[in-house]
Amino acid sequence: MNTFLTMDPDLKNLSETVEKVEDTLKGYNIKQKEVSKAVLLTEEMLVILAHNTDEGEKITVKIKKSYIELASKGTEIKSKAVDNMGIDLSAAEIHPDAENAIRNMLITANKERFYSKYSNGINHIKIYVGEKTQKALMVTLYSFLIAIVAGSLMRLFVPQNINSLLDEYIFDSVKTLFLNALNMIIGPLVFFSLASCVSTIKDLRELGKLGGKVMGFYVFTTAVAVGMGFLMFHIFNPGTFGEFVGIQTEEVTTEVTSISFKDTILGIVPSNIIDAFATSNTLQIIFLAIIVGVAAGMLGKYSDSVSEVLAKANALVLKIASLITWFLPAMIFSSMVSMIITADFSTFKSMFSVAIAMFAANFGMVVAYMLIVLIFAKTNPIAFIRKTFSAFINAFALSSSNAAMAHTMDVCDKKLGVSPKVYSFSIPLGATINMDGTSVVLTLTVLFFAKTFGITLTPSDYVSMIFTVIVLSMGCPGIPGAGMVCASVLLRQFGIPLDALAMIVGLYSVIDPLTTADNVMGDMTGTYVIAKRSGLVRKTDM
Ligand code: ASP
Repeated sequence: MNTFLTMDPDLKNLSETVEKVEDTLKGYNIKQKEVSKAVLLTEEMLVILAHNTDEGEKITVKIKKSYIELASKGTEIKSKAVDNMGIDLSAAEIHPDAENAIRNMLITANKERFYSKYSNGINHIKIYVGEKTQKALMVTLYSFLIAIVAGSLMRLFVPQNINSLLDEYIFDSVKTLFLNALNMIIGPLVFFSLASCVSTIKDLRELGKLGGKVMGFYVFTTAVAVGMGFLMFHIFNPGTFGEFVGIQTEEVTTEVTSISFKDTILGIVPSNIIDAFATSNTLQIIFLAIIVGVAAGMLGKYSDSVSEVLAKANALVLKIASLITWFLPAMIFSSMVSMIITADFSTFKSMFSVAIAMFAANFGMVVAYMLIVLIFAKTNPIAFIRKTFSAFINAFALSSSNAAMAHTMDVCDKKLGVSPKVYSFSIPLGATINMDGTSVVLTLTVLFFAKTFGITLTPSDYVSMIFTVIVLSMGCPGIPGAGMVCASVLLRQFGIPLDALAMIVGLYSVIDPLTTADNVMGDMTGTYVIAKRSGLVRKTDM
């Protein structure tokens, strides 16, 4: 059932209209909290719309259970506040006067609750009642759960050769299609969001300070992750000393990608701009974006127009990214089904004890993040987990921090309310150098195989191991299975036979999704804590 109202733009019957909206929503048995938010937003939007309505025209108000739609003929609403894809500056920067600032702040904090468009001379504003984003999360979650059930049933009841065919022609193909699309947008997304943001920062020391804090925090959580690996090793005590001595396994070869911290640092400066984008080298793109942003701010009379071009390009790229992430549920479903019907559980079973320790350590990291958020950001950790859950699931299904980046940034913006000044830099950086889940798994891998291959580690081995794990995780690219390559470097360093690698191939494919989800969770934790402590978080309902 719809309720239609009309209102004159002179605002004389504003309170009457708002009351009617409130009564109608209450009649739908919607929670009081949600009704109040929708009513407040409707009132603010009616005021904005009234200013833009032509004389003699009326504002129409359509009330439905899930949304309220306002429309009127007039001039286009240009305010950044109702631009649902632009970057929000702080409210006070847009409207200096207090009333407008408050109005803008309210709208900004709830920007995922409405949508606006201007067509044929009519402004349309849709205000969603209840959390629209909550619905998106539920769709993501359902597609994840349904995929687990469907994948398990297919694994149990459909012949292996048919599963392989289905995987090749449907699930894996859909997954590849979306991964390609996500990888395609990463370069422009990182570049324009960071460059447009840096170009608006007046004091470059502020940027340097932020960068330093983010880096420091990432090293801190990586060290916590290594500690978590040690802790879980001692709690679960997997394997017995020397049990694998003399074991013969098939030879495995890992991709020959060299992972070196020195190369990572030296590789930050690209020798060719196109090449940085062609190879989607995130650190090089971050470097280019900062250079372009800083230079744009130094152009004197051209600064504003160049910044504007960057901001517009950013809005365009964000829109493309959001169009791609619109298909997230289909992508998550295909990835999960493909993962389940092709997973090799045989090595997983034989190494059950260390696998359990790895799972526990990864979950231990989630608890560590909750504590960090509580202590350092004074934020309710449950609310934090609830808000970041869809990014966690997305990273889990994609097994790649890089591919997950577009959605991770979106969650930081819309759900955590973090300013792009922080996330446009910290998320790409984190996806490249902050790998807490990987550090957990690498630590457990070395400890487990040293023990089972009868190698006693000395205290100096432990020190060099901690250092190598931290450095390797920083060099580890955010792509599926990269941790395996790091593991082979570590095994060699401690004289562990490479037979161990053959034993963990299957295990790593099963643990990679959770590892990646932890990697991304670590990036979001660092981003949120630093932003909150620097006063760069919008007010949200956390
Ligand atoms: N897949 C992980 C990531 O993208 C890296 C790893 O293999 O550990 O974050």
